[in-house]
Amino acid sequence: MIDYLHFLSKISVLLTGEIDTCELQSVIKSTLQEHAALNKFAIYVFDSVTNTIRSCDSSWSVIPDDSEVYKAYKEIQGEDFIINSKAYKIPASANGISFKIRSLFLPISNGIIEMEFEENTTIDVDFLVLVKILASQVSLKLQNIVLSEQSKINVEFHDSMKNIAKIIETQYELNYIVPLIGEMLDRFISDHLIYVFLKQGEEFSLVWPKACKDERIYEALKQLTPETEFILTNNDKIGAFPLTSEGEIIGCIVARSTLDKLSKRDISYLEQLTRQSAITINRANTYSKVLQYATLDALTNLNNRRQFEIRLKQEIATTKRQKNPLCAMMIDIDFFKKVNDTYGHASGDEVLRTVASIIKAQLRESDIPARYGGEEFAVLLPYTHIDEAKIVGERLRKAVEEASIQLDKLNINVTISMGLAELTPDLSGEELFKLADKALYEAKESGRNRVCISKNA
Ligand code: GH3
Ligand code: MG
Ligand code: MG
Repeated sequence: MIDYLHFLSKISVLLTGEIDTCELQSVIKSTLQEHAALNKFAIYVFDSVTNTIRSCDSSWSVIPDDSEVYKAYKEIQGEDFIINSKAYKIPASANGISFKIRSLFLPISNGIIEMEFEENTTIDVDFLVLVKILASQVSLKLQNIVLSEQSKINVEFHDSMKNIAKIIETQYELNYIVPLIGEMLDRFISDHLIYVFLKQGEEFSLVWPKACKDERIYEALKQLTPETEFILTNNDKIGAFPLTSEGEIIGCIVARSTLDKLSKRDISYLEQLTRQSAITINRANTYSKVLQYATLDALTNLNNRRQFEIRLKQEIATTKRQKNPLCAMMIDIDFFKKVNDTYGHASGDEVLRTVASIIKAQLRESDIPARYGGEEFAVLLPYTHIDEAKIVGERLRKAVEEASIQLDKLNINVTISMGLAELTPDLSGEELFKLADKALYEAKESGRNRVCISKNA
């Protein structure tokens, strides 16, 4: 008996720690093996989606209806044990009774525990009392794990919604936004593959990921009408959730699995995420139309690419006419993808804004900085020789390196790489920036966080 108390206290300690169902099973098994000649210890839980039980180990495999454990699961309701295929209640008096045991099943809330013993193993009633207590502890722990997983999913869900909502504030390029939405959904609905389609004319075209070969998805897309909330096909393993805007279908988000049905919860999440995505995509469409006339980049307030090309042409013409010096600077943030991946895209945007403001602060009035694309910046330095440009560049590189960038909850540092080139009479503006870009590539290749100068200078 003392031994059993020791066992229970050991299990209690284990169960209070962070532990998943797979570890739970193996830890209990090895601890029980110190007290009984046990070959197998397995936990199974009922899965409402497949309407059968699943093993709780890492395989999570579905247990067939005709298996012994499934039959035991059906029979054990209202009983205390099934011992060697017979149902038992726990005996009132414990003394002196012992059993020859081969197999033992115990009910847990929403599942069953299976134990298999070595041949000729004898157990007493104390052992049965012990495993009964163990089963109730396992039940509690399983409920606990389910609840904490659920709350983790809820937190992730709200983060995803917040992220999608945040992107609309500053982003308007669909080819940037749609992959982001796709990635976010994919991370969130992990058992299913996610596809994002946008409507172009009458056709749906796939924008994320690169390929979709499942004909059933295209069949489902054909059935969508503006009134459709969603369509489930292939035994509820495929769900199509139309993106609508002002009564029209503008695209569709599809979740597909070859194994799992979409649960009620998945469907509810997908409906909400689709609604949020439709708003984002719709806003982006409107935005990009408006921004055709804009000169500034909405996120950084620097010149946008289009405005920069115009200014470049003007400056090159003036410089050549007046025979002034002029330099070009190309800047790219180092390992920016990692910033997005680690801290989220909203933080990535904050980094872009901060780097842009540092660039601006380090330049003269006459310099022309621009957001060239994603995390790349271009600067035109009129009246500047390469030696001065190098000093400006170094100073800027250092200022970024030393800046502590404030995000929501913490501060981070980033670095930039830079390429410089000086205009010569034979070069066009475009050729000049190609040289600066080549120098930037060398800065990246030779280790990043550095300034490289084009060979022509
Ligand atoms: P490297 O040092 O070689 O430049 O590495 P990198 O990770 O910076 O390079 P890469 O070009 O692979 O990654 C650029 C990333 O910038 C990918 C893209 O998702 C991200 N990005 C582009 N535009 C934006 C934006 O407006 N906001 C945010 N947050 N990320 C953006
Ligand atoms: Mg880049
Ligand atoms: Mg980069």
